[in-house]
Amino acid sequence: MQKITKTVVSKHVLQLAVPTPTIPPAFETNTYLIYDGSEGLLVDLGTQDPDSLHTVTETLLQLKLSRVSLLATHYHRDHTQGLPFLQSRLNTPVYLHPLDLQLAQKEMQVPAGLTSPVPKQLQLGSVSVDIDHRPGHTHGHVHVRIPTDSVVLVGDNLAGTGSVWIGPPDGHLNDYYDSLDAVIYGNCQIAGPGHGPVIRHAQDAARKQKKHRQDRQQQILSHLKDWRTVDHLVDAIYADTIPEAALWAARKTVQAHLQYLLVKDGIIQKFNKDQMRTQYRRFDDHR
Ligand SMILES: [Zn+2]
Repeated sequence: MQKITKTVVSKHVLQLAVPTPTIPPAFETNTYLIYDGSEGLLVDLGTQDPDSLHTVTETLLQLKLSRVSLLATHYHRDHTQGLPFLQSRLNTPVYLHPLDLQLAQKEMQVPAGLTSPVPKQLQLGSVSVDIDHRPGHTHGHVHVRIPTDSVVLVGDNLAGTGSVWIGPPDGHLNDYYDSLDAVIYGNCQIAGPGHGPVIRHAQDAARKQKKHRQDRQQQILSHLKDWRTVDHLVDAIYADTIPEAALWAARKTVQAHLQYLLVKDGIIQKFNKDQMRTQYRRFDDHR
């Protein structure tokens, strides 16, 4: 059995790397516990494995937390499917941003009454926790900030290793760049990602991720001198560099870039009836 690794993020924040069925190269989703005194907030739980759930509840007991709230950074199953287990034991709703509420109810298979719109702020003992709407990876994605500890939990807007996928219908690159800017120009030094190790230089990581996306955008544009389909672009950009199981995420990311470029007027699209595919090319080269 794969064990849960616990890492102290800061004075009031603990990371639990929980084995989950997620997207390679990640095999774990991080659960975070923010706490002060007997009050705690648990962020994300993506497992239904009884041993893992036992370890999580044991941790709550070890920390002597008697009042624990639940929150999901976004609706995806690898962040939410363990929350109903705790919900029923702690008798507290699962907080989510309103834009992700309905999708989360479906993922967790719980009735609407067991979820609740997330408040803007929560108080745990003497520690204030701010919840900011930071869309990008999903429309209702949130960041959880603990200013006293200079920590921001960024869900799937940043990863401890590698990059994250952004794509329709869940997310939008325009929003995503804004959410990265919020980290770059924010005051938190430490970021707790949804997958991978704690990021000790949050601003640098967000800047790097933004550059990575912008470079990818240029790379996509460089392929659009002629009409290209999404499949062409995925082949040209990702060929043999990522595991087969992650190809759908690469495809979504290419779609997100195309969507962004269409809105920004950088490219045009047409439907090719012979190939039954939508094709894209640069606008400036077309005139
Ligand atoms: Zn996700």
